Amino acid sequence: MGVLAAFLRAQHVPVAQHDFLMEYLYEAPGLIDYHDAQQTFSEAEYFSFLAGRDAHAGLCAFTHRFWQRIVPGARIYAFSIVAYHQFWASLLLARTIKQHDEEAVIVFGGPFITIRRTESLTRFGIADYWVKGSGESALLMLYRRHELGMDIPLAKIPGLVALSGDACLQNRPGHWPAADEAPPDFEHLAIDRYRYDHPHTGKDTLFLPYRTTKGCASRCSFCTGRLVDPFATKPVDKIVGELKALAGAHASTAFMFCDSAVNNDPRQLALLCARLTHEMPGIAWYAYARIKGFDAELLRAAKQAGCFSLFWGVESASEPVIRLLGKEFSVRELSETIAHAVDVGINNHVHLMYNTPGETEEDIRALIAFIERYIASEQVTFIPHRFLLEPRSLIFRHPGRYGITRIEKAPRGVFEREQYVFAEGGPGGFARIRERDARHREMLEPYLRLIEDKEARRAKIGFPFREAM
Ligand code: SF4
Repeated sequence: MGVLAAFLRAQHVPVAQHDFLMEYLYEAPGLIDYHDAQQTFSEAEYFSFLAGRDAHAGLCAFTHRFWQRIVPGARIYAFSIVAYHQFWASLLLARTIKQHDEEAVIVFGGPFITIRRTESLTRFGIADYWVKGSGESALLMLYRRHELGMDIPLAKIPGLVALSGDACLQNRPGHWPAADEAPPDFEHLAIDRYRYDHPHTGKDTLFLPYRTTKGCASRCSFCTGRLVDPFATKPVDKIVGELKALAGAHASTAFMFCDSAVNNDPRQLALLCARLTHEMPGIAWYAYARIKGFDAELLRAAKQAGCFSLFWGVESASEPVIRLLGKEFSVRELSETIAHAVDVGINNHVHLMYNTPGETEEDIRALIAFIERYIASEQVTFIPHRFLLEPRSLIFRHPGRYGITRIEKAPRGVFEREQYVFAEGGPGGFARIRERDARHREMLEPYLRLIEDKEARRAKIGFPFREAM
């Protein structure tokens, strides 16, 4: 959002921005709680309220609370949507805006909108446009069309989706070059809300978000990240200049690098680390990283350049599963990389995945051996996840290549992430996979408890835990 705001302001478009996500997730107003399993409203209540049929005290208070802070009378209201719950909240706010100003133009964009099938978005209506891919060109052109009255055909606007009667216009997504991406502008955001005490960087640290690349160079078979942006790097000169400017503007040298993997281009990272070491000696940063392309030398360089924590997409310690997930590293590389990272003094947050397709007990034993090796280390935190078959992932698209024979949607509430079950051929169908998953989960259970206990203990003594890196 900050990147788009910066770009539009540079084009002389007046922009106000709000980050309601921080507020409704972390300062729970007690009106709607998306993390409450019981939820504070039912699907029937939500859709009835959205359609204007029935009142609902919680939903009404929620929309009123945020709507009244939105600048009235703007021509365009654009929502940046990353996750399911943001989509439902955006529909509520957009509907309220339309009720008060039917001329207002509503635009939904962001990764969620980019990845989702068009029909699953347009069926809810309310928005005038949906934008897939980068928002820079699309928002600028929509502003010029609607506010300045310029004759810009909708068909020329990159990534635009628009309904016209029964017809649906769907333009190819636009991809704004990484080299031209503006550094984020946080004007109008309550920046102090983003500060927190961190054991590495101290009290009230403001971690400034910045990405050195766009997209991801990997093609992991379970991930849909490849659908958001093609991979591209920013020139190192630009990165260093923008980091210095952000640090100066916000009096903070703490950064969260928001790349899919900060070492997607190891050469670029090596150059960047060398520059940061000499030109920004006080900088402290953390990032996501991939095992492939992070050797001992680069880890040392990263540590010297201020890296204090890395989040690794490891997922498995078993060769067949690593291959199936498309992770492109060997077990030997995994062991060496984590050992080097620990040696140089970097904290490691290791994502692990279980219940993957075709999983064997041997795969689980390899995962357990890996957990056992580092469970006592204060420099390693494990973040385990159950495998979820993501629509539009490579596994979903080409199930046969991954040994999957049938995919079916599992019943889930509309407010929850979609889930699918799959079979793998042979007898037993879905039930066999279910039983196998349960057995493997049982094997892992004592280790999942150890991981939880470790986190709880660290949280108690103020050690960096999951959210605090
Ligand atoms: S490295 Fe991460 S973002 Fe990139 S494809 Fe793999 S899982 Fe997705």
